[in-house]
Amino acid sequence: MGPGFITEVDATIWENIEPYTSDLLQRELSCSGCLESLIADASELSEHVSEAGALLYIEMTCDTENEDKKVAFLTFVSQVSPKLSEFSDALNRRIVNHPSVEELPERYDLMLRAIRTDVEIFREENIPLGVRETELVTESQSITGAMTVDFNGEEMTFPQMGSFLESNDRSERESAWVAMSERRMQDHDRLSQIFDELIGIRHQMALNAGFESYTDFMFKARHRFDYTVEDCLEFHNSVESVCMPILREINQERSKGLGIGDLRPWDVNEKTGSGPDIHGRSPLRPFKTVDEMVKGLSEMFSDISEDLGGMFERLVEMDTLDLDTRKGKAPGGYQYYLEKSRVPFIFMNAAGLQSDLETMIHEAGHAFHSLYCGHLELIGERDYPIEFAEVASMSMELLTQPWWNKFYDAEEANRARRTHLEGVVFLLPWIATIDSFQHWIYANPSHTREERAQVWQSIRDRFGSEMDWGDYTDFRGLSWQQQGHLFGAPFYYIEYGIAQLGSLQLWKTQMKDPQKALDDYANAMRLGNTRTLPDLFSAADIKLGFDESHFTSLMGDVEEALSELPI
Ligand SMILES: [Zn+2]
Repeated sequence: MGPGFITEVDATIWENIEPYTSDLLQRELSCSGCLESLIADASELSEHVSEAGALLYIEMTCDTENEDKKVAFLTFVSQVSPKLSEFSDALNRRIVNHPSVEELPERYDLMLRAIRTDVEIFREENIPLGVRETELVTESQSITGAMTVDFNGEEMTFPQMGSFLESNDRSERESAWVAMSERRMQDHDRLSQIFDELIGIRHQMALNAGFESYTDFMFKARHRFDYTVEDCLEFHNSVESVCMPILREINQERSKGLGIGDLRPWDVNEKTGSGPDIHGRSPLRPFKTVDEMVKGLSEMFSDISEDLGGMFERLVEMDTLDLDTRKGKAPGGYQYYLEKSRVPFIFMNAAGLQSDLETMIHEAGHAFHSLYCGHLELIGERDYPIEFAEVASMSMELLTQPWWNKFYDAEEANRARRTHLEGVVFLLPWIATIDSFQHWIYANPSHTREERAQVWQSIRDRFGSEMDWGDYTDFRGLSWQQQGHLFGAPFYYIEYGIAQLGSLQLWKTQMKDPQKALDDYANAMRLGNTRTLPDLFSAADIKLGFDESHFTSLMGDVEEALSELPI
């Protein structure tokens, strides 16, 4: 049937979708080309359903205190998603078992590889477990979304508190950090319970599907066809030997600059490496209002290229941005592509910090990726691997650096660049932290909370900043709770590391030939999901690797760039 299979449907309700699913499962497939139209029609249905779910999710995360929105999303999760999973599995089986599947053109090869994997791991008994999993994740998001503190007589969201952690006044930083940590501690028990239950559910799902561990199950579920658990371990080792010495040096400079002895937890952000300026200058504040940020970015992207400028303009015109921080909004940032309308939606919690600017540029990179490959017909062709999605976003952070003067004077722009590059040095060890923690968690699903805290502490000893935690070691043992991915997106984290290494290579290309970097970027992003991960890397003229020498070369460039930046 091709385009036009569905004219309009409210896909939040199963009864509306059901006739289309029965058609797809029952229609006769004896003509030549029948299988291809089946795939095209199924793709159209997926677009409708994906968009319906996306809109419910967006509504909820923009307003986590609204019961109706939460109920609407959770109803979709409990009523529609399970039936869809069953339908998808039946359809997948219909496709891969069809006698003419081998005659499908090459265009379908990667889609079929994914479908076969999904068929292999699908178990009906995992459907209710998946529903329970989403309920728990949603609860964890409401808990963290509701966290505010009374500070200096005002109720503040956590993103707003971020600005006090950059204060030049050490005691103000300390009070801000302690206030936030104590607020987190109020809910730590429930978050631990949620996490315990999630681990149990996930381990059971793996056993049901015939795997020994959730790790093996998830490598399949996340379609990690091109790298292994061993590669991840090599990544951790390379981070330890190459990034950690640079991180320690940055921290030494920091404690010297700040004129303090041991660093305390409020002197440096463990994940991003940000903190107060070591020369006592006031914190970087690239914009005051969200409108100001959007205007600056519009100008910046059109200065970089017509292509990027045009795409960013479209985002602004389509008005699909929810960017300011407010109470009741879920934490973090994301880009969600509306598959039917082919429009990217961007969500974040901007409070005027340099890190907010970086987040917005990051999410804009995801949106560019979606727009670049929006011309591809089938949802399966656009569904790019996450590892490469993060190349789109993280390389945008690096590639826009020369234009950051839009938000700063010359000195501040250099400070911002330094902060960001130091952030790269800190982020890789944080990625290794989260990734190795997850490998341990799911290899030892019946661990106790005490063991979990101990292992977390020892992983932080390996990949973290050396600092004096004083009376706050309990906080440290639970600081994994701040990483939402552990709850909502299990095993999703090494992707950032793989992508960061890719992005650093595009940045290296830019130093020699700025136009080539933009062309390489666009060429690779346009391919969507029509190439394997290694081939997408090749299309951007970059290499996929985890080894120490690869790290050494890339981190060497970062160190050189840092040494060339005026302090
Ligand atoms: Zn991202």
